Amino acid sequence: MRPGVADSLRLDDVDEPSRRADQLLVETIAVGVCGTDREVIGGDLGYPEEGTDRLILGHEALGRVKEAPEGSGFAPGDLVAPIVRRPDPVPCPNCAIGEWDMCRNGRFTEAGIRGLDGYAAGRFALDPEFAIRTDESLGLLGVLIEPASVVAKAWEHILHIGSRSRWEPTRTLITGAGPIGLLAALFAARLGGEVHVLDLMTEGPKPDLARDLGATYHHQGLDEIEEVEVVIECTGADAVVAGVMTHTAANGIVCLTGVPSSGQSPPAVELAHELVMENDVVFGTVNAGRRHYEEAARVLAEADRSWLERVVNRRLPVARWESAYAPEPDDVKTVIEFAAVGDATS
Ligand code: BGC
Repeated sequence: MRPGVADSLRLDDVDEPSRRADQLLVETIAVGVCGTDREVIGGDLGYPEEGTDRLILGHEALGRVKEAPEGSGFAPGDLVAPIVRRPDPVPCPNCAIGEWDMCRNGRFTEAGIRGLDGYAAGRFALDPEFAIRTDESLGLLGVLIEPASVVAKAWEHILHIGSRSRWEPTRTLITGAGPIGLLAALFAARLGGEVHVLDLMTEGPKPDLARDLGATYHHQGLDEIEEVEVVIECTGADAVVAGVMTHTAANGIVCLTGVPSSGQSPPAVELAHELVMENDVVFGTVNAGRRHYEEAARVLAEADRSWLERVVNRRLPVARWESAYAPEPDDVKTVIEFAAVGDATS
């Protein structure tokens, strides 16, 4: 597509990726579709690689190594999930130590989003440093590693902030039962305690996906849920974002993962009052570092496969790419399949 030009997305022939001798050549198995892709397609987000005006989309992906340099730690046939972000070229102090998800100068690039071609192509070249080994038994479900990495980072930061005092969270609320919300609930269920999931949907797969993790599903609104110690906000809906910030018990932590759309400001002074008087923290999180991807790969490998299968509930071949980017009401995670997991061999 041409970034900045709405609806310029097309299926096209592109050159074979040029692989440097120290890189992996990866055959794409699948790419996941998310709200960020739709923002890029809508022309609101994203820019191409230098020297070109088109961008290959796709930042959630799974592939199989076709060629690997000796000593890279990978071999042909390995299943891998590629990392989205690349450190800025300066580099800033965070990127310099591999914490590109905490980049300070904003000059990072992101595959399929900002300044770097994405993975929605038959093959791509990848530095081994940005490849995550994926458990073979996950098969296609390894495509969830990228969204799960965002959740792994969110939880790491929540627990880190929580460690400022004696703190045993017993009630967590997740707002939004899309892939990020459901994966956040999967991580929450592993940690124990009550998990509450709030979403508008009363039908379709989401209520049962939440309940099958042992979570309580709510659809009416925040009023029906008692205050919690942790909130992970995954809707990006203005009213929900504003509502959850004051829906915590004392010492509460609110983690925002969704970007509010209208830019309407919350009542800042009222919020500040509650933050101070209850030692509350509201923080935002974006992207993920290598250790978060590795944690995501571990958690998914241990998760119930039939539950994960129900999360990846729309699978379309490349030829049907247009439908894949048009959301349908019962979608949880849509993926575009480039090759069957078993076919993409060396
Ligand atoms: C991706 C992140 C990325 C963010 C902002 C999200 O959809 O999962 O990796 O940093 O978009 O571009």
